[in-house]
Amino acid sequence: MEYDEKLARFRQAHLNPFNKEIGPRQHEQRASKEAPEVTSEEALPELPPGEPEFRCTERVMDLGLSEDHFSRPVDPNEDEPNIRVLLEHRFYKEKGKSVKQTCDRCNTIIWGLIQTWYTCTGCYYRCHSKCLNLISKPCVRSKVSHQAEYELNICPETGLDSQDYRCAECRAPISLRGVPSEARQCDYTGQYYCTHCHWNDLAVIPARVVHNWDFEPRKVSRCSMRYLALMVSRPVLRLREINPLLFNYVEELVEIRKLRQDILLMKPYFITCREAMEARLLLQLQDRQHFVENDEMYSVQDLLDAHTGRLSCSLTETHTLFAKHIKLDCERCQAKGFVCELCREGDVLFPFDSHTSVCTDCSAVFHRDCYYDNSTTCPKCARLTLRKQSLFREPGPDVDA
Ligand SMILES: [Zn+2]
Ligand SMILES: [Zn+2]
Ligand SMILES: [Zn+2]
Ligand SMILES: [Zn+2]
Ligand SMILES: [Zn+2]
Ligand SMILES: [Zn+2]
Repeated sequence: MEYDEKLARFRQAHLNPFNKEIGPRQHEQRASKEAPEVTSEEALPELPPGEPEFRCTERVMDLGLSEDHFSRPVDPNEDEPNIRVLLEHRFYKEKGKSVKQTCDRCNTIIWGLIQTWYTCTGCYYRCHSKCLNLISKPCVRSKVSHQAEYELNICPETGLDSQDYRCAECRAPISLRGVPSEARQCDYTGQYYCTHCHWNDLAVIPARVVHNWDFEPRKVSRCSMRYLALMVSRPVLRLREINPLLFNYVEELVEIRKLRQDILLMKPYFITCREAMEARLLLQLQDRQHFVENDEMYSVQDLLDAHTGRLSCSLTETHTLFAKHIKLDCERCQAKGFVCELCREGDVLFPFDSHTSVCTDCSAVFHRDCYYDNSTTCPKCARLTLRKQSLFREPGPDVDA
């Protein structure tokens, strides 16, 4: 589009904010009375912090043309409180920052240097202070704490008719023909939204990951995008239950599961070893706390990292570091190794060594071959049972295993 044409269109749109006759894009104008200064397609998608903003040319033009941004008093909201709690959002006042963002309420730019705005510390919803009292969307953070379970059906569509041809969020009338407003589908909820509530943001869909091992980002509503972003590191996926077959098809997952099981076997060494505690070895896994607690829960972030290969790399490193402490560096931990009671030969064994079997009852460690040759009966357990029986017959002093 030529600059002049753009300019003319922009002026027209700007001078007649309620005028819908502004060319081929008219269907994108919202039916609401909020007179968007930019159409939602032009609106910037929310970028993660630190990412450069690429599409700024139109904004520069906007800056030069829309005088009303500058004719306003510098800060009409000086007296506003620093914290506002609304619909479970915790909004903090921000101002005087040279950042250009888009208001989640009215879809127009927040001019960081001259306007005051509020950002929710829970879900990062942000809006002009003038828009604050108009918001109708509750904080997604509360949804994350009340409803920490993903929709695990892939794009569970029920159809526009079941939504009464209205936006699933704000109830604005919508249709696929774009009359009176365009309907956009959210791939996470399967529902349709207006352009105000759906900015074509892209997100990886948990249901597609766990069922299809498909990491292709899909278009989602604003609300779904916030929810998915807040949930990404939460270990809420019990993979073995949701899709046990996945482990047959994804090699990385088998490797990761083995590494996680080993790490759990190493944990008892660390929590009883002062040196390991002082060296804060378990903090290696502080970003994935659940890896120290169980071997079955996964976050979407875990699966993303498994997919790229990053997770098995970092877990292998951690595994090597932990094994080095227990088997080489630390005398205290070394002393807690096992001698195979079945053959009484060979090196000291540790439960996380690859060629070993561990008795599930008493945690004694054996060579795997010895254990299976012995029909997987554990001599230590047998001995313990015997002692218990004799103890029962004639109570005596404490008996060690
Ligand atoms: Zn606004
Ligand atoms: Zn919030
Ligand atoms: Zn809507
Ligand atoms: Zn140690
Ligand atoms: Zn043995
Ligand atoms: Zn045993």
